[in-house]
Amino acid sequence: MAKKGYDVVIVGAGPSGSSTALFLEKQGVKSVLLVDKAKFPRDKICGDAFSGKSMGMARELGVVEEYEKQPHEPVYGVLFSSPKGTVLEIPFPGSEKGKKSKPGFCIKRINGDDALFQTAKKKVETLEEFTVTGLIEENGFVAGVKGKQKDGTELEIRAKIVVGADGTSSVICQKVGESALPPQHQVIATRGYYQGVSGLSGNIELHFVDDVMPGYFWIFPLDNGWANVGLGLLTSEKTKRNMNLKEVQEKLVASHPLFRERFKDAKIDPQGIKVWTLPLASHHRKNHGNGWLLVGDAASLIDPFSGEGVGNAMTSGKFAAKYIAKALTTNDFSQKSFDGYDKELWEAIGPEIRTSYNLQRLGSNKMLLNFVIDKAVTKPKVKQAISGMLANEEAKREAISPLGLLKLLFT
Ligand SMILES: Cc1cc2nc3c(=O)[nH]c(=O)nc-3n(C[C@H](O)[C@H](O)[C@H](O)COP(=O)(O)OP(=O)(O)OC[C@H]3O[C@@H](n4cnc5c(N)ncnc54)[C@H](O)[C@@H]3O)c2cc1C
Repeated sequence: MAKKGYDVVIVGAGPSGSSTALFLEKQGVKSVLLVDKAKFPRDKICGDAFSGKSMGMARELGVVEEYEKQPHEPVYGVLFSSPKGTVLEIPFPGSEKGKKSKPGFCIKRINGDDALFQTAKKKVETLEEFTVTGLIEENGFVAGVKGKQKDGTELEIRAKIVVGADGTSSVICQKVGESALPPQHQVIATRGYYQGVSGLSGNIELHFVDDVMPGYFWIFPLDNGWANVGLGLLTSEKTKRNMNLKEVQEKLVASHPLFRERFKDAKIDPQGIKVWTLPLASHHRKNHGNGWLLVGDAASLIDPFSGEGVGNAMTSGKFAAKYIAKALTTNDFSQKSFDGYDKELWEAIGPEIRTSYNLQRLGSNKMLLNFVIDKAVTKPKVKQAISGMLANEEAKREAISPLGLLKLLFT
């Protein structure tokens, strides 16, 4: 069966796909179909932290209010603990509790993604419960998608441009011939929702505990006394150490000296601990070709240190929409007409990704982490430097340069 054709079909309606749809609407592109295999609201395994970068994109799209209508918990700073157990709390610069403008918040993805999708649904045509299984290809160009509806009916949808916004196991990415990411450019991570964790303090918490190094264990506060709790590390490390991540998490909350008291009355929700993969931007994946583009996780855009991907997913939607609108006016859907997408996107996120990749490598050094966190607890200048790094890319780059590290050493 064939459905009518569109200028653009977007496969996947998470943050990258829904943002692409909304930015296309802003560009005046009318013939857009946004499809997803799920029915919204749908869950997505995530830490649920909606960072300053995601907030910035939500502001550009005019959807902050839509997010804020959903249950969410404001976040005012970061709490770190070192492998030897020193705890350091760093407020986000300019954020005092009770202030109206929030630097970021935590919001369950089932709610946050639904807010964005429902906004997109008001602006473009959507099709839920449609699983894309393949591409229509003609004369070396992608010319649409093939898939199945919920009742099993097969459907072909033609399009001048197909956007792969279908996440970490992207079918579009596989069908255009992109190979799987090497394990040193993937993180494997867990997520469990717990209620009744004590000591939540309006901070996102990153704990560099021995069992998870070179990754970390996190506790992020959610509305109504819930917390998003998980851990993540490079897939290559997990395989090397033959780790069972669910067991590591269960052991940490039950017996680690920093957490056992805090979790003693906590209950995990019936979904239990789930595991998912994060494709990292430390690998610059090919993201466009004749008649197709990839955005978000499908394009492997997750920050290699923090694990944040929502902000970059939305950013990629913005640049993709710009070049799609251009291609539609020139009627040129060749790879060349999308080269600017890759260029502008990587000019925008590349410097930050390189810094984060360096931080990822420094962060795997236990001695250095113990040293820096100990110093920051006793030396206000070091604490200030870390606070600056949270707010400012330039400060982050400078702090991890050889000179910056030397300064830190002798402060
Ligand atoms: C454990 C974990 C913790 C994380 N923590 C954070 C965090 O705290 N903050 C942060 O910013 N980022 C975090 N991330 C990263 C973040 O979750 C992703 O970067 C983000 O979801 C990317 O958005 P996306 O729209 O590209 O993909 P997704 O959100 O995965 O959306 C893809 C959509 O495509 C649909 N789809 C998939 N296949 C098909 C198909 N064949 N046909 C039709 N539809 C399809 C899916 O149903 C889904 O709705 C975390 C990731 C993990 C795994």
